[in-house]
Amino acid sequence: MTTVVCNHCEHTTARVADWVKNRIKPEQIEKYLDHGRCFIDTAAIEQALKANGKPDPRRVRDILQKSLAIETLTPEETVCLIHVEDPELLAEMRQAAQAVKVRVYDNRIVTFAPLYLGNLCVNNCAYCGFRSSNHSEQRRVLSLDEVRREIEVLAGQIGHKRLIVVYGEHPATDVHYIASTLRTIADVKVKTRCGWGQIRRCNVNAAPMSVEELAVLNEAGIGTFQVFQETYHRPTYERLHPAGTIKGNYLWRLYAMHRAMEAGIDDVGIGPLLGLYDWRFEVMALVYHAIELEKKFGIGPHTISFPRIEPAHNTPLAQHPEYAVDDDEFKKLVTVIRLAVPYTGMILTARENARLRREVLPLGCTQTDASSRIGIGAYADLADGDQQGDRQQFLLGDTRSLDTVVRELAEAGCITSFCTAGYRCGRTGQKIMGLLRSGKEGRFCKLNAVITFREWLDDFGSPETIAAGEKVIAEEIRQVREKMPEIFDQFMRYYDKTQAGDRDLYF
Ligand code: SAM
Ligand code: SF4
Repeated sequence: MTTVVCNHCEHTTARVADWVKNRIKPEQIEKYLDHGRCFIDTAAIEQALKANGKPDPRRVRDILQKSLAIETLTPEETVCLIHVEDPELLAEMRQAAQAVKVRVYDNRIVTFAPLYLGNLCVNNCAYCGFRSSNHSEQRRVLSLDEVRREIEVLAGQIGHKRLIVVYGEHPATDVHYIASTLRTIADVKVKTRCGWGQIRRCNVNAAPMSVEELAVLNEAGIGTFQVFQETYHRPTYERLHPAGTIKGNYLWRLYAMHRAMEAGIDDVGIGPLLGLYDWRFEVMALVYHAIELEKKFGIGPHTISFPRIEPAHNTPLAQHPEYAVDDDEFKKLVTVIRLAVPYTGMILTARENARLRREVLPLGCTQTDASSRIGIGAYADLADGDQQGDRQQFLLGDTRSLDTVVRELAEAGCITSFCTAGYRCGRTGQKIMGLLRSGKEGRFCKLNAVITFREWLDDFGSPETIAAGEKVIAEEIRQVREKMPEIFDQFMRYYDKTQAGDRDLYF
């Protein structure tokens, strides 16, 4: 066991070491193994990637039809798409990916903000600015009062309704801290221009936990529980995450989402950290992960993320990742993921620069962040425009405001949805998967997107963004009148009430 030193909080070194020792519950891994084996067969994936030659265009087109029918692809079908190099076929794949997204999610994009609450960490991941051996990182955990101040800015000034809240792995930010922060965040209500603002969905990116701890988070009102595997390639994983640290246990992390589902959290988010190993392997493994969750729990991942490693303060590996993914490969892998897991939400983050985000978003992404700040306590200090390199995990590629991103999306014909109704009405997990696959969720989402977009424009939009947004709203209202005449009058009543200052109305 490596020595864990904590000079940054009231936890003594001995207490931290004790906490680390008891984190992993082997019985909560073993019960999910299949005759002692996990669902990632490294040799089989590598063999499949080697074996597949130039794909037959007819087979590729058949696979695209399967995606368009919103069916999860098999690993064999996925590897076939991965091997496509022909520019014409690649263009067809991109078109199909866009069509899949529109079929399931129409022209809606969801926005959110990351919120970092603590950067104390007992692990030592080679690529991360928060790793315990990075002594030049300034460590901090926000108090609940400080959390409140962050939310006042996020919900009261910027206008976010959704967060992904991020925590290091440390007793100072254990499950009880996480649960208290979720409750604190949900309690903050802030007056806005025409009504009031509030965070309505709180997703969590934190270390893998036990079933019992995850049940505590479920009770506290977690949205999606997100854990990235970083790399599914076990030898690489073990090289980058030192043995003896909690994160060094590949299987504890691989089965994090099984435990979440068992604890009743049925919206889970998965992803690799791109740059650690060959992206083709990671995409194949992601598909195995999605299929495994579908098989065991009847529900695939609610979201898939595909972050690329970004430079981090005092972190050489992050400056020069061994398997850096270039922009063309990035676009291809986003296309393949969209086609392989057609129902899932796909998250493109502000790690990427604005130009690339414009190109990649239409390939099938459904969520993106804006006005993002990833320093600990960084929102409460909006006047300080700089990124705080030594207090944040890595550097962002796109720091544009939510207003600018919403306007750009509207100019491209997309509606920014601030809707969080699905989850508050129990449309999660298996229920939402069924609705998404059949296209039925779209009915609620379309109505709620318009109502919440109206709310956001009135509370936070700049005059230019309101002008661009109202053009999109006019078209949406026309479509609702035409396609859902039975609900149109009630919809317009909600819309008018919202314009008059009522808040949080939804179907
Ligand atoms: N400590 C928890 C864990 O590791 O699961 C959650 C928080 S951790 C800060 C969230 C994610 O940040 C990690 O899962 C990793 O994928 C990502 N990350 C770490 N270093 C990064 C870097 N240099 N660039 C981009 N993403 C990074
Ligand atoms: Fe800690 Fe997570 Fe960073 Fe690893 S990635 S050092 S576990 S914060």
